[in-house]
Amino acid sequence: MRLNLCEIIEMPGSSIPFSCELDEERLGCPSIKRFVSAPSAQGQIRNSAGVLTLTGTIKAEMVCICDRCSADFQCEKLVPLEVKLAADLSDEDNPEIFALEGNWLDLSDVLETCFILSTETKFLCREDCAGLCPVCGKSLDLGPCGCKKEIDPRLAVLGQLLDKNN
Ligand SMILES: [Zn+2]
Ligand SMILES: [Zn+2]
Repeated sequence: MRLNLCEIIEMPGSSIPFSCELDEERLGCPSIKRFVSAPSAQGQIRNSAGVLTLTGTIKAEMVCICDRCSADFQCEKLVPLEVKLAADLSDEDNPEIFALEGNWLDLSDVLETCFILSTETKFLCREDCAGLCPVCGKSLDLGPCGCKKEIDPRLAVLGQLLDKNN
């Protein structure tokens, strides 16, 4: 979806709202199994003293796979949006600024990029998900497994470190 910003681009103080659905196919991420409903975004683009800022929220309800215990879980993800838009990019390396093409903004591109950046954090079924037993593979969220005591405590520490680094 492309938005024409000519109405606000020369008008400090003006704004236009937007509301749209996102293309699920383009939001793929290995930890997302499927979307429960179509992901959508709402917000506005405001001209504040000549600076265009897009604000709003992406909302997605999805079934994810826990990065630690591999269990499926359903969650609602809200991605807050705050993005600057610029006609010409003097600072091309700044990922927080998106370029306009003339008066046009590629809204889908902005929303997809923001969503994908937000999926780089861990997907956990719970903040404190215990993960899988490194020996037998049983989910420790379901209770302790028989072999827990046999793990060398030094290996357990190593496991935690590896988990943090991932
Ligand atoms: Zn988990
Ligand atoms: Zn075990």
